[in-house]
Amino acid sequence: LKDKYDIIIIGAGGAGMTAALEAKAKGMNPVIFEKMPAAGGNTMKSSSGMNASQTKFQKEQSIEDNNDLFFEQTLKGGHGTNDKEMLRYFVDNSASAIDWLDSIGIRLNNLTITGGMKEKRTHRPEDGSAVGQYLVSGLVKNVQSKGIPVFVNAKVTDITEKDGKVNGVKVLFEEKDEKNIAANAVVVTTGGYGANMDMISSVRPDLKGLVTTNQIGSTGDGITMIEKLGGVTVDMDQIQVHPTVQQEKSYLIGEAVRGEGAILVDKDGKRFTNELDTRDNVTAAINKLSDKAAYLVFDSGVKSRAKAIQQYDKMGFVIQGETVEDLAKVMGVPGDQLKATLDTWNGAVKDKKDAEFGRTTGMDNELSAGPFYAIKIAPGIHYTMGGVKVNTNTEVVTKDGKAITGLYAAGEVIGGLHGENRIGGNSVADIIIFGRQAGIKSAEFVKAQ
Ligand code: ADP
Repeated sequence: LKDKYDIIIIGAGGAGMTAALEAKAKGMNPVIFEKMPAAGGNTMKSSSGMNASQTKFQKEQSIEDNNDLFFEQTLKGGHGTNDKEMLRYFVDNSASAIDWLDSIGIRLNNLTITGGMKEKRTHRPEDGSAVGQYLVSGLVKNVQSKGIPVFVNAKVTDITEKDGKVNGVKVLFEEKDEKNIAANAVVVTTGGYGANMDMISSVRPDLKGLVTTNQIGSTGDGITMIEKLGGVTVDMDQIQVHPTVQQEKSYLIGEAVRGEGAILVDKDGKRFTNELDTRDNVTAAINKLSDKAAYLVFDSGVKSRAKAIQQYDKMGFVIQGETVEDLAKVMGVPGDQLKATLDTWNGAVKDKKDAEFGRTTGMDNELSAGPFYAIKIAPGIHYTMGGVKVNTNTEVVTKDGKAITGLYAAGEVIGGLHGENRIGGNSVADIIIFGRQAGIKSAEFVKAQ
């Protein structure tokens, strides 16, 4: 541990490690402080993939897409409330972020689709597995090989400044030794506040009591520290409730299950919504059911395509039956109704037309190959859209839009990009695209000192 670094990065999730790698590539000497015993953050838990448009992998697979469509669909998903400047930067720099990851050995070339998107632009690892662990282990490997120091059990408690210029942080090591460490710039990548029920219920009392899929370190520390320095927040009451969470273990069941063809049924064995509508709409549909819970139903084809299901199976979430009727028995839903639901659905897949609910995506394959499976789910807190306001250079800004000198932020800690509803696959894109920008811009700033 040194007394001074060029750049201090707070939080070793996806955004923090990405920022560190870019700062290092610019010749800087960065350090990462992480309060938990290991790197990874919520990034580790992310499942869907990374959205990007006009990428080389899409081209290789003849998937037509462009940045304007990505922009429009994200804006529509966010009910038109997204920060448009941030969103423009985001879509325009998405393909280069995929290339950058590939250049450091993190290859996301398996394409799928998430709710609210119309093109296959969700990039996953080659074997179709959940993106989080693959991404974190790839980033950790790079951080180590570049010799970037990462201190764990190192909680940043304050960001210090002098004459309006950020100059370091206070860190509590192993819950006992507090030290001041100096730096020319500080990058805040502390993630969201999805595990801070007090912060959530102060702005959204209606969400009290919901389970959360977030790791326990997601407590909004960065937001509190930045507000003390005059940084402003946006959209703090915009909290994403994810429709498909296994309740007993608060474990997110990724959208790829639906993207690869699963449907949702209620306790009567009937479909009740377009399963790949945006997360807020699917959540609202589940909350209208009398028991506010539903089943994801799929066949062995979906199970082999959506690799994350192996993990859900290991955790004991997946129930199964050789036939649809067998499955219905285990689920406790009427077998003839579930059979009829699947027959109607398979007809819709064949005709490419879902007359009941207007679903248009995740319909490439019928649900016909036994055994059949189900996972019981209900909504849970998943992601905090709100956070601190930054400009496209990731500089933290004050109420009057002025950048706070030497202070940068990226990842879930920032607000505005996703507006009122984040699209699945856009948060991994967010942390890589703006994590890179924070590393680059903070390095340029330090160099110019
Ligand atoms: P993102 O997706 O934006 O990268 P993550 O949740 O993946 O966010 O990572 C944020 C990381 O920051 C987590 O590992 C979390 O434990 C860490 N963190 C949060 N607050 C602090 C803090 N005060 N000091 C150090 N690390 C922190």
